[in-house]
Order: sequence, then structure tokens, then C-alpha cells
Amino acid sequence: MIAGAGPVGLYSAFLLVRAGHPVVVLEQHPELAADMRASTFHPATLDLLAQGDLADALVAMGTPAARWQYMVHGTRQRAVFDLSVLSDLTAHPFRLQCEQFRLTRLIVERLRGEPLFDLRLGCTLTGIEDGPDGVTVQARDASGEVAFAGEWLIAADGGRSTIRKALGLRFEGGVFPRTSITLVLDHPFHDREPELLGVNYVWTERAHYSLMRIRDLWRFSYSPDPQQTVEEALSEPVAQAHLQAVFPRRQPYRILQRNYYTLQQRCLDDFRVGRVVFAGDAAHLNSPAGGMGMNSGIHDAHCLVEHLLPVLAGGDERLLDRYARRRRTIAREEVQRLSARNYRWHRETDPERRRAIWQRLQDIVNDPARMREFLLDSSMLRSRQRELEID
Ligand SMILES: Cc1cc2nc3c(=O)[nH]c(=O)nc-3n(C[C@H](O)[C@H](O)[C@H](O)COP(=O)(O)OP(=O)(O)OC[C@H]3O[C@@H](n4cnc5c(N)ncnc54)[C@H](O)[C@@H]3O)c2cc1C
Repeated sequence: MIAGAGPVGLYSAFLLVRAGHPVVVLEQHPELAADMRASTFHPATLDLLAQGDLADALVAMGTPAARWQYMVHGTRQRAVFDLSVLSDLTAHPFRLQCEQFRLTRLIVERLRGEPLFDLRLGCTLTGIEDGPDGVTVQARDASGEVAFAGEWLIAADGGRSTIRKALGLRFEGGVFPRTSITLVLDHPFHDREPELLGVNYVWTERAHYSLMRIRDLWRFSYSPDPQQTVEEALSEPVAQAHLQAVFPRRQPYRILQRNYYTLQQRCLDDFRVGRVVFAGDAAHLNSPAGGMGMNSGIHDAHCLVEHLLPVLAGGDERLLDRYARRRRTIAREEVQRLSARNYRWHRETDPERRRAIWQRLQDIVNDPARMREFLLDSSMLRSRQRELEID
């Protein structure tokens, strides 16, 4: 059984069904989510998705960015990173800018008609009993109360995980001081601002923004004023003022979508509890700076299924403890460490500290060996390599 039809739950389902195992996926919403969340697929993730023949279709729906940059808004100074230096290590030496809902839709399309795949939309998991031989879950759907039983439960029910709460598990960590707003715009920044690349992290004099291109749309993200309520921060005049402050124009911008979110960094003490195995946001949360949350969740799913398949074939179930050790270590020591560093770098406003960061970025981009080392981290290729070394 799999709780949650997000990218992590559905990718786990995809791998299990492809390996010949029946799965039921319980999803509380009547439709797959189509909200504005992850937009970046890193090289390591695309390499994994290619094993299931999912990468090419995804690439065709998005915008590959081989080069991405940090930039100073006023002076237009740039630190440009070029992923082609990793061409010997990955078949996808680029960041793919593409909405995460395109992956979940693609997986469901690929599994359509597959008798081993049972997707229950509009089915909210409400309780769980974890026994020595199997797991039973209680749920609610349009017909009323229902129950499901299975050998194992993959908890991929997101940051607010019902399963985590039902089992009373600690989710240690905290909330970052600054929140974030993302606006989606159809303004042709690519025609008007020649310095922009597909992915841009930019310092203004006293703040920061990022601009990411997905096909002909742009996502503009920034930290709102901490004194503002969510409603004020998202209101049309305030959002327009943020845009006009960096890209002034006579007419207002057309804002197609807007989103406000709180940034958290948390992690479970153990990703396996009896016959329940946690993956993705249900197991760990990090700042979205650098785009690693969904990517690391997909890596969790891959590692989990790799360990679960031999167990389903009669192997030692302690293999799943190795999954838990591997992916928890990566979540804490790679994903949280790097995304928290990105959070600090993007939001730094102190001139002295900015100078030090900028010097470091320049040193990296001017030295091919250091550029490669830096990109091994940000592309998540290193964390995949490291995972395999953890016993
Ligand atoms: C604005 C924003 C930008 C982001 N950008 C990036 C990025 O560029 N790159 C990146 O890698 N990550 C990014 N992330 C993070 C990424 O979106 C998440 O890490 C990812 O969605 C996690 O996937 P998941 O499948 O674990 O959880 P989710 O996507 O949250 O899916 C969980 C599913 O479980 C369902 N569910 C919950 N409770 C129940 C229940 N009781 N019963 C049944 N179903 C239930 C939910 O409805 C949901 O469909 C971003 C996040 C945000 C908010």
C-alpha cells in the first residue's frame, strides 16, 4: 500500500508495478495535485527516471538549462555554472525546468490499464494498525469508511503526513525565519533581459529574487516583508510593487498564479517503523532553495523499492533498515546541509558577508576542478554516489 499520490508515492508505485507487484495508492484529493511546487529536476534524478523510460517524455515537456547563475541585479555581475562539465558522469548534463505535476500525470498515464495498479483518488487515510505480518489502514472515501490491508505501507503522504502523526513520531527540526512567495508570469523576460539564463538567483541591493524559466513562463520568487500578513503579501498591489522594483514597466504584470509558503527543515528519527516505510516529504523537509525536496524524494523512492523488492521475494526485511540509514543520512548530511546553505546565500544582505560569498562563487567558476566539485553537489550526483557507500 502507498499513502499519497505525489511524485514520491507514484514513482514508488511505478517501480513496484513494473517489477510485477500489486499496489494500491490512496490519495485524499479527487484529482492529482496540479499546484505550483517543484520546478527543477536535477541530472541525478533524470538519470534515475530514464531507467523507467520517463525522462525523455519529461524533458520534452520542460526547459533544459545547462547553464545557471548567481547574479547581482544592479551591476549585472554573474557567476555562471555550466553543467556540461559533468557530461562524463550523467546522460542529462542540465537542470530540467518542468512542473512536478507533469511527472505525476506522466506516471499515471503510463500505468493506465495496468491491473496491478489501483489508484484510489478521493480516499483519505485516517488511521493505521501496524502488526507483525502486515499493516491495516482505515480510510474514508465517497462510500464511507473503508479499510485496506497489505504487507507493507509506504508512507509518502507529504509534509503533514497523517501516518507520521498517527504513529506519534517526532519530526524534529524547525521553521526558517523567512517565508517565500512565488509568482508565475507570462512576461517574455527572455526577450527583454539578455543576461538571464533559465535559472537565476539574484541579489538586489537589500533583498533577493530568483527567476526560473519553464517554457515561456517565468517563476519569480522572493521573500516577502516579514511584517506583512499572507493576504497583504499576496495582494495584487504588493506583488506588483515587488516586480516593478526590479523590472519597472508602465503596465502592470499579468500574474497567472501566486503562492506563499513557509520553509521548514525537519527529519524523522527513523524512516522505518515496523512495516511502515517513510519517503519524501513525509520523512524529511528542507528549504526549496536549490530545488532538492522532490528530487531527494524521488531518490528515496528509488532506494526504497530497490531494498523492498528482495524483501518481497522472501529476503531479510532488515534490508529496509539499510534503506532507512542510507536515505536519512543523505537527507540530513547532504540535502538539508546544502539547501540550508543555499537559503543563507540567497538571502544574505550584509555587505561583508556578501563579498565573501561572491568571492567564493568567483573562485569556483574560475577553477574547472572546483566548478566540477560544486556541481557534483548541486546536481545531486554526489549524494547518489554517497548513498551507495552507506551500509
Ligand atoms: C513552492 C515550492 C517549490 C518547490 N520547488 C522544488 C524544486 O524546484 N525542486 C524540488 O526537488 N523540490 C521542490 N519543492 C519540494 C517538493 O514540492 C516536495 O518535496 C514534493 O512535493 C514532495 O513529494 P511527496 O510525494 O513526498 O509529497 P507531496 O507532493 O506532498 O504528496 C503527498 C500526497 O499525499 C496526499 N495525502 C496527504 N495526506 C493524505 C491522507 N491522509 N490520505 C491520503 N492521501 C494523503 C496529498 O494529498 C499529496 O497528494 C518545492 C516545494 C514548494 C512548496
